[in-house]
Amino acid sequence: MGAADDGTSVCDPACRVWGLENLYLAGGGVIPTRTACNPTLTSLALAVIGARDLARRLRDTTPPPAAAPGAPEGRAA
Ligand SMILES: Cc1cc2nc3c(=O)[nH]c(=O)nc-3n(C[C@H](O)[C@H](O)[C@H](O)COP(=O)(O)OP(=O)(O)OC[C@H]3O[C@@H](n4cnc5c(N)ncnc54)[C@H](O)[C@@H]3O)c2cc1C
Repeated sequence: MGAADDGTSVCDPACRVWGLENLYLAGGGVIPTRTACNPTLTSLALAVIGARDLARRLRDTTPPPAAAPGAPEGRAA
């Protein structure tokens, strides 16, 4: 994991692989430094960051479902 796509890292700080639209990494391998404590919780926290980034991007790019014909206003099918 790194702050810039400068050849020293595989993914950005949200676990998204540089240069690929929809590939995220989750696991201890993304931790970019030595750890000062047991690593599993850090790995999980980073995976949550990645999952949240993916969910945000899906929410921002997925159109809302169309309303069913005759459905009350504001109600999706
Ligand atoms: C003896 C020991 C004790 C530990 N104690 C602690 C502790 O007390 N606290 C702590 O926080 N951490 C501890 N750790 C570290 C912790 O286990 C790891 O940091 C953590 O498991 C890493 O999780 P991960 O998901 O990145 O990788 P892993 O848990 O290694 O998961 C990788 C998975 O990918 C699978 N896999 C590999 N290659 C392929 C493939 N080609 N196709 C499909 N699947 C594949 C493997 O079978 C494995 O299930 C310990 C580690 C060891 C070895």
